[in-house]
Parts: sequence; C-alpha cells; structure tokens
Amino acid sequence: MDHFSLIDGAMHCEGVPLSVIAEQVGTPVYIYSTAMFERHARAFRDGMAAAGNVHLAYAIKANPNLAVLRLLAKAGYGADVVSGGELARALAAGIPAADVVFSGVGKTEGELSTALDVGLGQFNLELEEEGVVLAGLAAAKGMIADAVLRVNPDVDAGTHAKISTGKAENKFGVPIDQAPAIFARLAALPGLAMRGVAIHIGSQLNDLAPLEAAYTRVGELIAEIRGMGLPVDRVDLGGGLGVPYRAGEVFPSPAELGAMVARVTRAWGVRLMFEPGRVIAGNAGVLLTKVIWVKPGVTNPYVIVDAAMNDLARPALYDAWHDFAAVRPTGARMTANIAGPVCESGDTFAMGRDIDAVARGDLAVFRTAGAYGATMASTYNSRALVPEVLVDGDRFAVVADRILPETILAAERIPDWLKA
Ligand SMILES: *Cc1c(COP(=O)(O)O)cnc(C)c1O
Repeated sequence: MDHFSLIDGAMHCEGVPLSVIAEQVGTPVYIYSTAMFERHARAFRDGMAAAGNVHLAYAIKANPNLAVLRLLAKAGYGADVVSGGELARALAAGIPAADVVFSGVGKTEGELSTALDVGLGQFNLELEEEGVVLAGLAAAKGMIADAVLRVNPDVDAGTHAKISTGKAENKFGVPIDQAPAIFARLAALPGLAMRGVAIHIGSQLNDLAPLEAAYTRVGELIAEIRGMGLPVDRVDLGGGLGVPYRAGEVFPSPAELGAMVARVTRAWGVRLMFEPGRVIAGNAGVLLTKVIWVKPGVTNPYVIVDAAMNDLARPALYDAWHDFAAVRPTGARMTANIAGPVCESGDTFAMGRDIDAVARGDLAVFRTAGAYGATMASTYNSRALVPEVLVDGDRFAVVADRILPETILAAERIPDWLKA
C-alpha cells in the first residue's frame, strides 16, 4: 500500500496531513514515510532470502539522511558508502563499521586510512593501484584489510547513460578479462585479504536480463580465480533495481530478482552481498511544493512551483519523470508545464503534462522523490537547502533543517584587499 494517499480528499503521509507539515515546516520540503522505508527494506530482505544468507548494505548515496540510516540500521541493514562523509554518517547512525562496504572510484589515501582505523568491513577496490596503496596502509598499521575487486563486465544495463556503470567505457571497476591476473597480484600482498569480487552495472534497471548476464560472467570469473588456487568467499552483487516513477509502470520485484540470483549463484558457495538504494528509498518519499503562479503560456500554462532543480535535480539531470499530484485534488484536470523559479530553462519538471488542476497557493507533490532527491540538492540561485521530514504514523519530525541563504552567506567572506 502507498502511504501517500488521500484521506477525506486530502493527501496524507501515513496519518499526517501534508498541509499540516506545510504549515509547520514550510515548502518545499521532502517528506518520508517510515512505514514505506520499512516495507521496502523487508521486501528486499525477503526477496533475497531465496539466495541464502546474504549481507544487505544499503547504498547510502540514495538517501543519506541520518534518521533514514537509523531506521534502516534498525531493520538490519549495513551500508554501502562512497566517501568518507558517508562513512561518518553510517557510523553516526549506529551502523557497525564491520557492516559497511566502501565503494567508489576515487577513494583518497586519507579516506582509506580512516576506514581502516574505524574497522571497515570491506573495501571494494576499483583499480589495482588502489589495492596496492591500501595494502601498504594496512600493513603499516599492522592490519589486514578485507577487500573485493570490482569488475566491469561490459554489459549494457539498458538504463539512462548517466546511470550506466557496467559498460567497458565507464569509469568503474577493472575489465573482467584482466580481473584474474589483478586479483592474483593483489592476493599476494601482505596487508590485504582478497575475499572475492564485486559488480554494479547501473541504476534504475527495469530488466533482469543484463543483471543475469553480468552475474553469469561473475560466476565464470569465480571459477577462473579458484582455478588459480585462490579462495573466493564473498561476492557483492551491487544494487540497481529500478522503481516505478509513473503510475502503472511495472518493475521486476525483489522476489523476482532473488529467484534469478538463487538460480544463477546456486553453485557459487559464497556469501552474497547486495547494495540496494533506490528500491528502498525511491517510493518512500515525496517533495511537497506550493504553486507560486499559474503563468499563461503560448501552448500550455506554466505551473510555477516553489521547488526547483536545486531541490530535485533528476528531471534536469536525467530527463527523469516524477508524477505530480495535488494535495487536495478537485477532480478537475489541466494540461500544463511544471517549472521551478530557478533561472534556467532546464528547471522544468514536465512539459504538456495532464495533471490535477492547481491554482496559486495550492499544495502539490512530486512523487517517488525519496531516492537521489534531497541528497542532490544545492543552493543554486541562493535558494535555501531543502529540509526533510520523517513521518511515523501520526507523528512527524524535521530530520534535516532548512539551511537558509543567510547561513550559507555567513560562511563566505570578502578578503581584506577588497574591503577598502
Ligand atoms: C549507486 C550505487 C548503488 C545503489 O544503486 P541503486 O540503483 O540506487 O540501487 C549500489 N552500489 C554502488 C557501487 C553504487 O554506486
């Protein structure tokens, strides 16, 4: 069930009317449903149960809010982090360092060192030299770092080019044909325990076939590495499962993914790991906004809302679709363009869309904004940094403040030589 639905004609998140949040917190504001986060977390765990005893590492970058991390930690999730900042968040949320996986193509020596110091569970190496540097750091500290080698299987994930990560020309992982030799050289280094391999071919995947092709290649790779006399006991299968952004769209379910994984990996004899992000967070959040103007246009009117591309970048970045719905729909419809106040034509959420009729002052939401939403927000055009609210039943809390332009301004200064 969707926990953003109409009760007596007004949209609620669980038991809280969105109009109440708008009154108390203002708009724009991201609103998350605890029940939906928990349901998605459970559905993914249940889906993967077919594949045995798995480790679930929530991909923090999808939605790194501290309260969200806390509730996922309580749901038994570890974390996949891609920066020292995300590692700090995972630890602050109470996720044990041993349950954290460190991904990312540009981990710095400082980040690797800090991660060793806190007892990180697994380093996902993106290139051979990174493994050499990590081994040196670990050996100097008298430690042994658990690591896996991220491989690039050269498969087309069939998703948007900017969120494809498993094609040969993408920056991620080592070419799968070079992986056995690299793995063997790294496995020989003191300070490093090479445990297995990792893969992540892209995001918002709507088809299991590319994943299955990639996993099948990983199976062949495991056999090759073991054939060299080297043990493999972990395989990290990444994230990437997509979610419906438009009412009526159908995506593979976690249960379907789990069944495929169970079939493909049956003979692997490893601990499987997953890094789901969007599938946990995407539909658990909306961006609540207020209509500033309905501006007449040449073909269609422009609904100018108080949320903009700095708050929700996905439409400008990936031409992404977000369903738009009035908080108090009258039943009337209109065809309109929807845009924000930022001075860029790219600050447009929809063109010529059939939507709930709205007027100046009305509240509305962009749906499916829980993943890659608030975390990509900026202060472009000297706008505030958008706040976040978490709802749980009949209660809600502001879990990230609105950072006002004054606060940003206070961190800037005019150098002495310009003061005169
Ligand atoms: C972004 C990312 C994920 C999460 O991807 P989703 O599509 O949100 O599930 C998982 N693993 C890695 C390495 C990533 O970069």
